[in-house]
Amino acid sequence: MVLSSPLQSLDSALELHRKEVCLGIRIEKGKHSGEVIKSTCGRCKQSTRHQILSDVDFSGRDEAGDEFIFGWDDSYQIIQCQGCESIIFRKTHMNSEDIGYVPGKDGWEPEYLTREELYPNPEEDRVALSDDHLLPENLYRIYSETLGALNSGSPVLTGIGVRAIIETVCKDQKASGKNLNDQINDLVGQGVLTKEGADILHKLRVLGNAAAHEVKPHTNAQLGLAFDVVEHLLQGVYILPHHAKQRFK
Ligand SMILES: [Zn+2]
Repeated sequence: MVLSSPLQSLDSALELHRKEVCLGIRIEKGKHSGEVIKSTCGRCKQSTRHQILSDVDFSGRDEAGDEFIFGWDDSYQIIQCQGCESIIFRKTHMNSEDIGYVPGKDGWEPEYLTREELYPNPEEDRVALSDDHLLPENLYRIYSETLGALNSGSPVLTGIGVRAIIETVCKDQKASGKNLNDQINDLVGQGVLTKEGADILHKLRVLGNAAAHEVKPHTNAQLGLAFDVVEHLLQGVYILPHHAKQRFK
């Protein structure tokens, strides 16, 4: 048996796609090469500037006569962190059905959502908070399971878990209010949370909603940031007060 080389396989895959151009699929190479974007770096452990070294874009449009039915755009990129120089693979996906709402000048405005996947997953080796055993038992369980979901690359479950952590904190702190929105605001009133922290939690609340009800995955960068904020909250509410009590008796 003669095995084809990876390059031959890529060539034949591209040839196949070239044939499909007449069916509404377009391929462009190097459209974004040289551009600098923000992406999460697993080594720097934060969002950093990355340069796109190489990229191939596929886009498709379904049309019936003059009527637009469905469109999608996929981009496959090799990107390099401008801090530590490590190289990863990034895939993005957008389509005309996948629309989210963002705050704009005149209230909520629709926006096409971009889904991002990174290989290797930069959140893969995220370690638990030190002293996470100081969390109340039910909170410790949901926190550990959500961390496991994040590390195993399960973005929908991570989004749901983040929301469940916030709900559990609100319940445990006896935040009043008929919904999670009011309860988060009540934590600010109690002095448990800053106004800035609450603003971010409101974004996470919406994120968990989309994950739970619309089964929408979120990007690594969003989930990594969400986890940073949640951990900050857990530290401020449970872990640091415990240490303060121990050391300033
Ligand atoms: Zn880096």
